[in-house]
Amino acid sequence: MNRRYRKTVIAGNWKMNMTASETKKFAEEMKKIMPRAKWCDTLICVPSCNIATAAKAFKDLRIAVGAENVYYEEKGAYTGEVSANMLKDLAVKYVICGHSERRQYFGETDQIVNKKVHAVLDAGMNPIICVGETLDQRETGITGDWIALQVKGALYGVSADKLRRCIIAYEPIWAIGTGKTATAEQAGEVCGNIRATIRSLYGARVARSVTIQYGGSMNPKNAAELLAQPDIDGGLIGGAALKPEQFVDIINAANQD
Ligand code: PEP
Repeated sequence: MNRRYRKTVIAGNWKMNMTASETKKFAEEMKKIMPRAKWCDTLICVPSCNIATAAKAFKDLRIAVGAENVYYEEKGAYTGEVSANMLKDLAVKYVICGHSERRQYFGETDQIVNKKVHAVLDAGMNPIICVGETLDQRETGITGDWIALQVKGALYGVSADKLRRCIIAYEPIWAIGTGKTATAEQAGEVCGNIRATIRSLYGARVARSVTIQYGGSMNPKNAAELLAQPDIDGGLIGGAALKPEQFVDIINAANQD
């Protein structure tokens, strides 16, 4: 973390978990243990059918509401899709773009991710742009090139001014939901490379202002070590964000002086 130049952001990603009633119950539990806001911003990305419930339930909790996905068209005949303006109207502040599960199961390409990023920014929200390599790519030594391409693809046509509202989440695919975590050094190195890519595109001043998260089995045990890396400014958290105590422990790790 480097709090002098950028925000620390702890974000939950509930994926396809939690009903509306479970969302209310989670908020009740969180009310008892949520720490005072100190250094880090906190948000949870919830399934789209739970956004309205979460917006109400999280209101007094200092937890912003995020969406897990968006469609990039403004409106029209796109059955089943949800637009950026629809999310914005429900008080959504953050939207995950290009999570590896969407890339893997729903065929999202860098080009689609880029369109989503623009739609989110144009609607005045903050995209959380996910990038990451497979185990195969890591083992063949192409992690750096692959991730630089993903970052460049996602940010194509994004102005420096708008980039300040983007969060990049480095999520090695082999570490998501597997219990395997990248070591702090591995994660720190890739996040440093991501910042170097942004620097090459936008210059040093802009690059140092961008929040870069690590995601991939972050938990109360490994959070402090990962967050101690200078280029890791928070976490995108799946499994541990479903459990109030674990999520709070990670927030506490980010809040440490
Ligand atoms: C994620 O959903 O983005 C994620 C990192 O999941 P987990 O923390 O469960 O690995």
